[in-house]
Amino acid sequence: MTREELYQSIYTHDTIYLPPHEQATAALEVSLGCSWHKCTFCDFAKDTFRIHPVERIEHDLKILAQLRPDDTRLFFLGENAFCLSTEQLLKIIELTQKYMSKVREYAMYSRIDDILRKTEEDLECLAGKGIQALHIGVESGSDPILEACKKGVTSSQIIQALLRLDKVGIDYYLTVIPGLGGRNFSRLHAIETARMLNQVHPRNIWCLKLKLWEDTPLYREAKAGGFEEMTPAEILREERLLIENLTVSDCLFEDTTVLDQFTIQGVLPGQKGELLGAIDYLLGL
Ligand code: SF4
Repeated sequence: MTREELYQSIYTHDTIYLPPHEQATAALEVSLGCSWHKCTFCDFAKDTFRIHPVERIEHDLKILAQLRPDDTRLFFLGENAFCLSTEQLLKIIELTQKYMSKVREYAMYSRIDDILRKTEEDLECLAGKGIQALHIGVESGSDPILEACKKGVTSSQIIQALLRLDKVGIDYYLTVIPGLGGRNFSRLHAIETARMLNQVHPRNIWCLKLKLWEDTPLYREAKAGGFEEMTPAEILREERLLIENLTVSDCLFEDTTVLDQFTIQGVLPGQKGELLGAIDYLLGL
């Protein structure tokens, strides 16, 4: 088999989605789909949720070890791979050490309730075994918006879960969706999201502006007049308000979807002025 064929043999889909800061990380598919599968805006959790059997994971690890023998970091694929039980995660880490012994760090996507379901001891143990970063779509800090989009958690649960990660030293990279409150709740979305983010310590805040995908409940709601979609410029003004209200420290803020064509990036708090200046410039174009 060629290298490409070997890669293809271990992933269910042709394209795998890694967060921006994991693009160079080796990826091991441990699950498929999302165990929650209810968010009204989400179009990427198409697969029926399943956790792969250990035999398949071990088989894929052997192939990955041939392809990436010197890698020191591994990403566990699956829309929320951290929903696996502590025992399942420890077993996969043990197998990784058998076949890819240089791996020292693990990262994956997680939901907030996946963190809350684990005990303090579980989190400590997983951190000790190398789980270094979780990538989490928090989307908003506003409870009415979280409820409307069926995120399944509240802002206080988000804060509680992230502070538990702080305690055990697991980094977290957060995704926020500007525009998710629609025109009516735009201001609330910005202010409440900043309020939530200011109470935690994300390494990275990645804004991905709302896109209404056909076949999603939110798309149908918008078509029926129950959700007022904002223009890209309105969403950018909302994001400006979010940034203005952020007091996070040592956190990379980025948006790769500005006005559907630009990326802005800056470390907060030092580059807040530059971020706001870039937004003002783009709004003036
Ligand atoms: S938790 Fe994430 S992957 Fe699952 S439905 Fe919600 S947005 Fe989609």
